[in-house]
Amino acid sequence: MYRIPFNIPHYTGNETKYLLEAAETGKISGNGLFTQKCHAFFENQLGYPKVLLTTSCTDALEMAAILCKIEPEDEVIVPSFTFVSTANAFILRGAKIVFVDSGKLNPNLDVNQLEKLITPKTKAIVVVHYAGVACDMDHIMTLAKKYGLLVIEDAAHSIDAFYKGRKLGTIGHLAAFSFHETKNIMSGEGGMLVINDKRFEQRAEIIWEKGTNRAAFQRGEVDKYNWQDVGSSFLPSELTAAVLFAQLEKLNDIQQKRIHIWNLYRKSLSNLETKGFIRLPHIPEHASNNGHLYYLICKSQQERDALIKYLAAHGIQAVFHYLPLHKSDFYLSVNSEHDLPNAEFFSQRIVRLPLFYSITDEMIAEVCDRVRSFFSR
Ligand SMILES: *Cc1c(COP(=O)(O)O)cnc(C)c1O
Repeated sequence: MYRIPFNIPHYTGNETKYLLEAAETGKISGNGLFTQKCHAFFENQLGYPKVLLTTSCTDALEMAAILCKIEPEDEVIVPSFTFVSTANAFILRGAKIVFVDSGKLNPNLDVNQLEKLITPKTKAIVVVHYAGVACDMDHIMTLAKKYGLLVIEDAAHSIDAFYKGRKLGTIGHLAAFSFHETKNIMSGEGGMLVINDKRFEQRAEIIWEKGTNRAAFQRGEVDKYNWQDVGSSFLPSELTAAVLFAQLEKLNDIQQKRIHIWNLYRKSLSNLETKGFIRLPHIPEHASNNGHLYYLICKSQQERDALIKYLAAHGIQAVFHYLPLHKSDFYLSVNSEHDLPNAEFFSQRIVRLPLFYSITDEMIAEVCDRVRSFFSR
């Protein structure tokens, strides 16, 4: 057990109250009162054009792949430095994944390498805003327009994050959020699809409800519902939505706290960067910081692994992040090996530090002291 773990899920206080409320309505299946409260909050308070809660970001990405009508032989460009689901959702539709490397400054995809990966078979680009730091969306949307491609934002890290003042998740045609327990706001498992292009709205609701027009029926728009299209059971139960709503109401409070923690890490560790021991997260001018995660970039994998071990020996849990997908067993079982040096660079050198709502300034000071003492050995 770690004295300072990497993550402790934060409860805002209203979760159990809303869970009971949901239970007492007598209907805890999906698209009930709390789902609608969450939808209204996201759309009216936060300004996302149209949203659908899902059971995970993975599900939202799978919905996006269906909506984009991805078919076998279609190519989808995906960063290698990401979670499995970013690519897997499109693999399930038979797509060929074309991996793009990270840039040099941060793990986000290198926009300068995108155009040469586009072929007549390319149908979509999936972007991941790593750590909630925006990709260069103007560049990406311009390319998408030029070649007639769809853009899906994997916004799993990106609640309350911005690109040139625009909310992440509202710029691509579709976007997927995660409310997994490790994300800024959470419902254990949970996610959301954002639909920014009106063309997809009606079909999205049908795919969400097992391929039926049940959502329209529930609103009284049709007098019976039936099978309209492909779909699956993508909607979460009311219990999930109840927990999420309790979190959503406290979004500002959570964000304030996480950004405070993030800034404290940066301030305390900047000296190590100045001295050349490590690199700290780079946030380009076009991006904001949403306090999703704090990481260091070590000089080598050996040093990174040694640092993780050293911190663990002192009761602190620090963790590495993604293994590049182009080097995964699954990808290599059907594709040949190639190098994406920047994705591999970040994969080998990133270490994420504890960042959760209840971490105290003293605990952060202790983590930073330990990191410093590691480098002064
Ligand atoms: C967490 C995460 C996911 C998956 O989210 P789930 O809600 O667990 O399905 C997808 N992509 C990225 C970039 C993530 O960090």
